Amino acid sequence: MGFEIINVNELLKRLDKYNHKELHVHHTWRPNHANYNGSNGMSLQNGMRNYHVGKLGWSDIGQHITLLPDGKIVTGRNFSKTPASITGHNTNGFAMEMLGDFDIGKDKFEGEQKQVALKIAKYFLDKGKYVRFHRENASKTCPGTSIDKNIFISEAKGVLVNRGEPVVVTQIEKAKAYIGNRCKELQEKLNKVGYNLDVDGDFGQLTYNALIDFQSKNGLDVDGYAGVKSFGKLNELISLQNIIIESSYIKEFQKISSKLNYKDKNGNLLNIDGTYGKLSQSVANKYQLKKGSKNELVGLIQKILKEKGFYHGNIDNSFGNQTDKAVREFQKSKGLKVDGYVGSLTIGKLLN
Ligand SMILES: [Zn+2]
Repeated sequence: MGFEIINVNELLKRLDKYNHKELHVHHTWRPNHANYNGSNGMSLQNGMRNYHVGKLGWSDIGQHITLLPDGKIVTGRNFSKTPASITGHNTNGFAMEMLGDFDIGKDKFEGEQKQVALKIAKYFLDKGKYVRFHRENASKTCPGTSIDKNIFISEAKGVLVNRGEPVVVTQIEKAKAYIGNRCKELQEKLNKVGYNLDVDGDFGQLTYNALIDFQSKNGLDVDGYAGVKSFGKLNELISLQNIIIESSYIKEFQKISSKLNYKDKNGNLLNIDGTYGKLSQSVANKYQLKKGSKNELVGLIQKILKEKGFYHGNIDNSFGNQTDKAVREFQKSKGLKVDGYVGSLTIGKLLN
């Protein structure tokens, strides 16, 4: 990973620490403006890296930064490393890709994206450094035929650079940018494994917290990035659920829950259907079982743990030290977070 989304002031602050000899200006061509939805900068950047590394065989993404249509900047290759940018001029160059296709008749070079590009160019010009368009040294139109270099440079010279607040986009915003348009899918899938999120496609604090919790309980990198591994684990758990159509333990769990008057997230008692779905999981989450808990569900858990060989004490409905130890061993054996806390994920694994 390692990519970050920052604003131009943060970029200039970072560039102060280096002494790049020139600025390279590119357009990405593909992806272009139509591919950007305002929150998928990180995933587009990852796509470019995968292309550069996987298809072109480079050591890393080619550019140091990608300038997004809204003026935000995604960092790329480490600023201290030589870019894969313009043949013959890479050493100590700084490579900027502007997301878009700026050939005449395609994307418009305007707004925040243009202002930030000019600011960055101005920063180099003020230090007496050269600003190089890719097409000066390649038979390409890059950064696009609609951008006249003389006009670009004179506009850059005239741009005011007041160095305002440096901003690094927070982890949750990064995670939001990373997930792009798969947020709804994530929320649906997290709910299927026991969380209780509004499925609104809006990656807010609650979705982020649930994802972090899910990652930590499932032995994944706890970074808030919902990628191949997080979705893979979710899909795995969901398909497991679908195989378990009926289980007597689940029925027992449902009976106990009704008897103890635990209601599901819709305020109803559970159907005794032997299926550990979203409603049963919402009830399971209400128990908050841990050391000190006393009720019939503790007894059921003791019974199951005993059958599975983790528990050797009495079935006394009382969550004591021995039960705690057994729960932790069970959690460890299933790759769950080992905390002795029995929430819907641990209950689900026990009932299945
Ligand atoms: Zn180029």
